[in-house]
Amino acid sequence: MTAPRQPIRAPRGPERTAKSWGAEAAKRMLMNNLDPDVAEHPEDLVVYGGTGKAARNWAAYDAIIRTLDELEPDETLLVQSGKPVGVFRTHEWAPRVLIANSNLVGDWATWPEFRRLEELGLTMYGQMTAGSWIYIGTQGILQGTYETFAAVARSLDREDLSGTLTLTAGAGGMGGAQPLAVTMNGGAVLIVDVDESRLRRRVDHGYLDEYTTDLDAAAARVSAARDAGRALSVGVVGNAAEIFPELLRRGVRIDIVTDQTSAHDPLAYLPIGVSMREWKEMAASDPDAFTDRARASMAVHVAAMVGFLDEGAAVFDYGNSLRREAELGGCERAFAFPGFVPAYIRPLFAEGRGPFRWVALSGDPDDIAKTDRAVAALFPEDAALHRWLEKAGSTVHFEGLPARICWLGYQERHLAGLKFNEMVASGELAGPIVIGRDHLDAGSVASPYRETEAMADGSDAIADWPLLNALLNTASGASWVSIHHGGGVGIGRSIHAGQVTVADGTPLAAEKLARVLTNDPGTGVMRHVDAGYDRAREVARERGLKVPML
Ligand code: NAD
Repeated sequence: MTAPRQPIRAPRGPERTAKSWGAEAAKRMLMNNLDPDVAEHPEDLVVYGGTGKAARNWAAYDAIIRTLDELEPDETLLVQSGKPVGVFRTHEWAPRVLIANSNLVGDWATWPEFRRLEELGLTMYGQMTAGSWIYIGTQGILQGTYETFAAVARSLDREDLSGTLTLTAGAGGMGGAQPLAVTMNGGAVLIVDVDESRLRRRVDHGYLDEYTTDLDAAAARVSAARDAGRALSVGVVGNAAEIFPELLRRGVRIDIVTDQTSAHDPLAYLPIGVSMREWKEMAASDPDAFTDRARASMAVHVAAMVGFLDEGAAVFDYGNSLRREAELGGCERAFAFPGFVPAYIRPLFAEGRGPFRWVALSGDPDDIAKTDRAVAALFPEDAALHRWLEKAGSTVHFEGLPARICWLGYQERHLAGLKFNEMVASGELAGPIVIGRDHLDAGSVASPYRETEAMADGSDAIADWPLLNALLNTASGASWVSIHHGGGVGIGRSIHAGQVTVADGTPLAAEKLARVLTNDPGTGVMRHVDAGYDRAREVARERGLKVPML
């Protein structure tokens, strides 16, 4: 594998070298995913989420960039697990890129088989937004995490989290949003990570207030903040499987416990007794033995979380398969606490609400400030949205191209998309806007340990829904569409789809945006109507979604 000559940075501004904005946007977003300010390990093409990659290898990366620059406005590039494999004549309404990442036939969908194929150079792990080129740095998860912690506060009959202490682990690409999300909600938080460089990065980027290697000092700082009702985030360098049980043993008063280590991939979770230095080498030389050790440590880690639950804390799994891995490691009560989706997020999904995100291809932060104001004006009644946009505008440090995220629902997202397109057309914005979302959305994922855990009708593992979502987005005019396997929770445990659509200011873009941004969240409402959620039925009736058997 040849490494790139210099750090990658997406071009900025209104001039393009590709023949359409669809292709130019895909190229810039792929490059942005690998910008050192955005990606966790750009030298390995790893964007976030353990080993979530943007392209198979550097040769494939170069070929994708070259092909996108040459792609005609009526052609479509096909990408198979990070490798460009074909260009076909389609039409202007068709996506410029179709992506399939990490998909394996059911019986073969295991980590060992996946790794064997990856070793042969035949596949790559695309996570959710890494291989589908719409990762926007830690902010991408910040709003969802902020919303989740706000919902936790509500579930505790509190207005916010002031006077509470949250314990969590994992300060990586996604998990690094946790400390800021808690302090934005007014709480105190202690976050554990084995890798000091991750904690330092979060402090540098304003997501974490401070960190230390001294557990006593960290515990004292956050406990004092909790008692004073002050927002404070403190990182501590250490292994969660050692620190969680230690804090439980010491009787530190903790109100909320969760975790976002990369537990979905046992090779990306550091077991007790293994040093940072030994990690990669040991995992590569004997992955089975390493997996056993990681699972055994996760069992200890989760047993401590169950201990906090027994002491009255609110405890939830934050979508990383930690409970299942701990169960495999021998923790019998691993599922004593719920996942965050059934606990806090499902009511939002029933309305088609989910992570709507956009990126300014101009590179001008002012474009985001203007779109923030436009979104706030479109939804004057939505107090939570206004609170978020204000906080995000003042606290979020952009990583790579300026971007924003907020959660919008069915019959809302297209209004924002059309408004942005108008602002591009009128010249109010300095360049086109890319609009996409996480695969973690209302209608785009089947993931029984996360987004579809405990569905009302038991349909948790039915994966027809994300495939229909991807097909519909393709038919509706999205600029690129992706179908992935294994994101978030690991190989064998999820199937999910993504879409990205470009607002380039043209009337054609407006037509496409109106359809995609209505239909995409519409599949979320449809999926929850089908599963029997009353709120989804109401939304479908009120907002005119056609569901033949409703
Ligand atoms: P990442 O790989 O960037 O970061 C994981 C972090 O965990 C690393 O900093 C690593 O040093 C740390 N870590 C590993 N083992 C540890 C241990 N034993 N003790 C303490 N720290 C340890 O991953 P990420 O992008 O932050 O994602 C984290 C997890 O969250 C993944 O499983 C991902 O799939 C999941 N996730 C959840 C959501 C959600 O909405 N809930 C969204 C995205 C990702």
